[in-house]
Amino acid sequence: MLLSISTTHTPATDLGYLLHKHPRRVHQKSLNFGIATLFFAHTSEQRATAVLVVDVDPVGLVRRDNEAFALSQYVNDRPFAASSFLSVALGAVLGSALGGRCRDKPELAGAELPWEIHIAALPCGANGEELLKRLFEPLGFNVRVQKHLFNLADERGLNWGMSRYADVYLSTRATLQSVLQQLYVLIPVLDADKHYWIGVDEVEKLLRKSTSSSDENGASVSRNWLASHPEREFISRRYLQNKRSLVQQALQRLQLEADSETDTELETTPSAPSTEAAADSNTEPQRESREEKVEKPLGLNAQRMDTIEALVAALQVRSVVDLGCGDGKLLRKLMSNKRLTRLLGVDVAMRELQRASARLKLDELPERERQRIELLQGSLIYRDQRLSGFDAATVIEVIEHLDPHRLEAFASVLFGHIAAKHILISTPNVEFNVRFANLGDGQMRHPDHRFEWSRAQFQAWAQAQAEKHGYQVRFLGIGEVDAELGPPTQLAHFFKSEFSTVSAAHE
Ligand code: SAH
Repeated sequence: MLLSISTTHTPATDLGYLLHKHPRRVHQKSLNFGIATLFFAHTSEQRATAVLVVDVDPVGLVRRDNEAFALSQYVNDRPFAASSFLSVALGAVLGSALGGRCRDKPELAGAELPWEIHIAALPCGANGEELLKRLFEPLGFNVRVQKHLFNLADERGLNWGMSRYADVYLSTRATLQSVLQQLYVLIPVLDADKHYWIGVDEVEKLLRKSTSSSDENGASVSRNWLASHPEREFISRRYLQNKRSLVQQALQRLQLEADSETDTELETTPSAPSTEAAADSNTEPQRESREEKVEKPLGLNAQRMDTIEALVAALQVRSVVDLGCGDGKLLRKLMSNKRLTRLLGVDVAMRELQRASARLKLDELPERERQRIELLQGSLIYRDQRLSGFDAATVIEVIEHLDPHRLEAFASVLFGHIAAKHILISTPNVEFNVRFANLGDGQMRHPDHRFEWSRAQFQAWAQAQAEKHGYQVRFLGIGEVDAELGPPTQLAHFFKSEFSTVSAAHE
């Protein structure tokens, strides 16, 4: 099995940094199906090529009592055909590059560079060329296929015809991470044979391996390349070996990613400036949503941010994940809290994350500050390892944007999986809406709100979740409280029961 990766980026010697491998050495790694070797076939300022060779031990494979291989015993193509073994080797040998990291020259990791890839003996069937193009071209690759022809008749005079293997040459300009991820996912997809891996977390892996980061307008953003791929269904099916429930899960998640990206595109298409927006030339006037306009006279947004900031300070936590972080207003405030050593903002909308990145000036931050804070595109409805391990989670004005039938999934992810010691959730108090002069009867504060709850509704939901997941909960208000209608914004603070002193002190 052979894969070569070349770049004409200057200086091409950067390839060593990008792959985290010294160009003068031969790097070998023992895998449980064989040996992976990586070496540099060529290095100059103009061009560098790294070659990954994977030697599969077919006898060892059979001995490992692997049912799939027992069937075909010693006669199979596994030792030479590019397959899931090659992906596993990629992961093992080039893990850092695949994860988008470049230790010595971090700026290279997010940069789009010129790449040429050669994959030897890629199994792709009779319509191989067409399939290869369907898979790689939408990702921006130029695809050239050289089919192998078995044109030698054997001793019985039988002509073996065309081989199902091809040599494939790909070229593109992209980040190294996305190129490696795309190879990692698509090589096993092309090889319809049984995969070497079958695991419960394959959906997670597929989602993770299709989300890559790049630098855009000076901001680091992550994007899921599979979500917008026209063949995402085919790719998910093949990758997940037709396991229907897994495929369905993957497609739902990819749909969500795709939705958020379409929203983003719609938002970015230039439109005539609205006179209303132009009249208000404060900050980012064109972005002001109806909710902001409705709540503006009360300065509610600022009050919300101040309240959460003060609460987080009082709780004396060291790390916070802001779920549905939007354009990063809260994160910006929390950054000045020096006690916090780790901040993560998560949002499903790429556009919001780009705004957050600009607001937080992530690219201008000194390295130490930069290490404290991260932005991530993700959904709150699905478990995601990256969101756990934080002392506190904030979910500010987000739940009312979720479809009611997804609330339960959201709650089990938040309380059961992320399970931070402290959780702060805010949402509008619908009872207060009659006080907003600029809001029509029965109208919600924002066109995207799926519901707005009364105090009783929110408290009933919160109490039930607290009981179910072993939390205590107390309710606070944000904004000036109306004696009859309550506060404009309601806030629930969930905490694990060992916590009591700080709560008492704060109240
Ligand atoms: N917390 C921010 C933004 C609130 S607006 C603030 O208070 O200013 C709601 C945010 O939730 C939006 O940015 C939206 O993109 C995000 N969101 C909605 N559904 C989501 C989901 N399923 N997963 C992650 N984020 C979501």
